[in-house]
Amino acid sequence: MKVVGRRALMLLATVGTLTIPAGAATPVSLTIRLYNSSGVTSEEMQSARRAAEAILADTGLAVAFRHCGRSPFTSAVDACAEPLRPSEVVVRIIKAPAFSPTLHPDAYGMAYVVPETNRGWLATVFSDRINNAAARLHVEPGTLLGLVAAHEVGHLLLGVAYHGEDGVMPADLPDALLTRDDQEWRFSSNEAERLHRSLESMTGTSASSPAVEF
Ligand SMILES: [Zn+2]
Repeated sequence: MKVVGRRALMLLATVGTLTIPAGAATPVSLTIRLYNSSGVTSEEMQSARRAAEAILADTGLAVAFRHCGRSPFTSAVDACAEPLRPSEVVVRIIKAPAFSPTLHPDAYGMAYVVPETNRGWLATVFSDRINNAAARLHVEPGTLLGLVAAHEVGHLLLGVAYHGEDGVMPADLPDALLTRDDQEWRFSSNEAERLHRSLESMTGTSASSPAVEF
């Protein structure tokens, strides 16, 4: 039987231990720079953004998106030339490489994290694999892309090896999970708290964060 829907990660880091000082709760912002490098249509990009935004905003984060390159909403061009800030991450949308010895053949996306911190800023989602799954399952491809993007952003902030029982962060994505109602794609309250603390930690240590330009 063909194995479908399994998500694999490139384990580029060992699991680290997050130690975050307790602090007062303050509004925490997260900006996601989207790079559409595989020709995903404007309509699908809009759906992807809405899906990812709903999931991340549900955690209480102040989520903003930047469409680097041409906006699918206004056709305006954003060069995203500024160095990445600690409160920003990148989601790039590409087609899966044809040959990669380290990439699971069924992975829909992956996240790079810094080994020392088990946190990262670059997530990748594979539009061709997601489109294939969407066509097979008769679900909207843009929405599915957004759901996968939210999962990979979760890895950037929760750790490369973290997976939950349900919600946004299951270890595998069989078809039965891919066709769930959108409302079931949510971070748990515990995960939401960790997302906040992770971002607070990252933004509080901006001196160690990489400045990256695309
Ligand atoms: Zn995962």
